[in-house]
Amino acid sequence: MTPKIARYLAVHQPATPCLVLDVDRVEENFRALRTALPLARVYYAVKANPAPQILERLAGLGSSFDAAGIEEVEACLAAGAAARSISFGNTIKKASAIARAHAAGVDMFAFDSAEELEKLARHAPGSRVYCRILVENAGADWPLSRKFGTTLEHAGELMRRAGALGLDPYGLSFHVGSQQTSTASYEAAIGRVAMLFTDLRDAGVNLRMVNLGGGFPVRYRDEVPGIDRFADAIMAAMTEHFGNALPEMLVEPGRFIAGDAGVVSAEVVLVCRKGSDPVRWVYLDIGRFGGLAETEGEAIKYRFTTAHDGGATGPVAIAGPTCDGADILYERTPYRLPLALQSGDRVEIQATGAYVTTYASQRFNGFAPLAEHYI
Ligand SMILES: *Cc1c(COP(=O)(O)O)cnc(C)c1O
Repeated sequence: MTPKIARYLAVHQPATPCLVLDVDRVEENFRALRTALPLARVYYAVKANPAPQILERLAGLGSSFDAAGIEEVEACLAAGAAARSISFGNTIKKASAIARAHAAGVDMFAFDSAEELEKLARHAPGSRVYCRILVENAGADWPLSRKFGTTLEHAGELMRRAGALGLDPYGLSFHVGSQQTSTASYEAAIGRVAMLFTDLRDAGVNLRMVNLGGGFPVRYRDEVPGIDRFADAIMAAMTEHFGNALPEMLVEPGRFIAGDAGVVSAEVVLVCRKGSDPVRWVYLDIGRFGGLAETEGEAIKYRFTTAHDGGATGPVAIAGPTCDGADILYERTPYRLPLALQSGDRVEIQATGAYVTTYASQRFNGFAPLAEHYI
């Protein structure tokens, strides 16, 4: 938590649950990434946190944007982003959304199927297109599964067809999975992309861009490698495979930019034990449906802090406040919280600036969506 957030919480004691996000930290993260990877253009993945305060700050810093839907495209434009700085990065788009984005001046689109490529040709003629390839997500705490991307061979076929359809075959993309803690997956993916660049060049199609996706991790409960480690591994792999003919490089960080800029402040609703089991159940006023959706499968392991930290601790299961049995944050993952913790206490959930506010449900059990304070 930044000193600014700590001060805000102490002075204002905002009603819980709420997210307090320090927009200066967003800027610091953006600058850190740009410094680490000066040859890559940064496209902020808007879905991580689409708050106008974040988009405006990033637009002012010269960031570009990766939008998943037409509403996100429009949010970027409203925040002052140039249409040419927006990539419509979802490979699954309604025809009407493509047409609206194209009419607004967006000229860069992702795809991973022949069917989507044809939609782009019809509704966004002349645009730059890039094909997403399927890569290993090993090492990612929040993998993106087989839903997106296609095989190298199929991608090659589609990129050869793009020109004939009146589109500009611009490049290739991949995503190694979110909260990726290993550099090896980037290195392997770059090798695959480079192979296809060569094959296509031999076929007369000269791609110009590699989109390295997002995935850069945030420190939750466990330490993660710093951004420099990823940048060094990426540049070494790019140089190894492309030599002096480096293509344009794009990165699409979401979590890395917004994650550690925010803190959720929550209240303990109940602490109790079930019979003689030593594990205490700690129920908070935010859970799976209040925005902490990435605790699904206990995948993302948030770090909790309390005013009792430093005192004796004991094992806990941590759950949300709703009447849904799935609303458990951690039961299998060993967590410990202070023995002094009791109902009414505040708990801070660290590094919750990304993938929280937009996951909050609408009034499930009557609970209002998460309040947000951008400072
Ligand atoms: C979600 C997403 C990102 C951002 O991923 P992070 O792991 O948050 O950096 C980037 N690109 C695409 C295409 C995505 O779907």
